[in-house]
Amino acid sequence: MKENYRNVLSKIEEADAIIIGASNGLSISEGIHIFADDSSFRENFGDFREKYGFHSIIQGCFFPFPTVEEKWAFFSHMYEYFLLNREISPVMKNLYELVKDKNFFVVTSNIDAHFIQAGFPKERLFEIEGNCRNLQCSHSCHDQIYPGDEILSKLAQNQENGKVPLDLIPKCPECGGPMQVHIDVNQNFLRDQSWQTSYQAYQDFIKKAHGNKLVLLELGVGASNQMIKAPFMNLTNHEEIATYITLNKGSELYIPDVIAAKSIGIDGNIAEVLQQLVQMK
Ligand SMILES: [Zn+2]
Repeated sequence: MKENYRNVLSKIEEADAIIIGASNGLSISEGIHIFADDSSFRENFGDFREKYGFHSIIQGCFFPFPTVEEKWAFFSHMYEYFLLNREISPVMKNLYELVKDKNFFVVTSNIDAHFIQAGFPKERLFEIEGNCRNLQCSHSCHDQIYPGDEILSKLAQNQENGKVPLDLIPKCPECGGPMQVHIDVNQNFLRDQSWQTSYQAYQDFIKKAHGNKLVLLELGVGASNQMIKAPFMNLTNHEEIATYITLNKGSELYIPDVIAAKSIGIDGNIAEVLQQLVQMK
């Protein structure tokens, strides 16, 4: 096992470029499980669970709330749960510590905005499905997303009986219609200019890394993930000096035979593995 850790560290150390891919498993290692009806969900979203009958944060994101006051109560509460009431986790601190001096880029489907919170620069980050702190027009009438921190904090702090005050609810500055949090929950999700810029930055990073020592560091990405895992495995296969490092738990840890010789898999709790790596660094 120690041998594996040392291999990971030396690959990171030698790398000319590192692409970090993160999904649900990374959040779970921080104690956030958006798909689970776990104790944290019951403790923090118990009122919503009881009132509407949904059993996870993700179900809440897709739930057709009867009124806008209730909808914004949920989304601002989610924002509070992800960011306001939370310090930067040791998981994210360790991850940052591991790569901060390297040439890296992050691609993630996580919506909790924890990479930005942990100090990862925006220009080296592509949040495929948006995040919980930005807003867009629900009709996607125009191509812009807005920082929502101020309004979401205010809404989170002004809830009564599961509702927020109607007059605090944001309206689209262009059409005056409803807004929504910029996460990929329906067909209106905006892939606006800032989304395109991040996507392009990701593609450019891959292009520039061509032929160099590339590390694909994958954190808690499910075995059948097509958005992050499939491109990572392809890159590993096609880039001559690429190394695929995957951290995951049990059956979620998956390395196909064709790239096995270029891969290192570590089966375990991501929080503990990152801690161990930073200690050995
Ligand atoms: Zn609009």
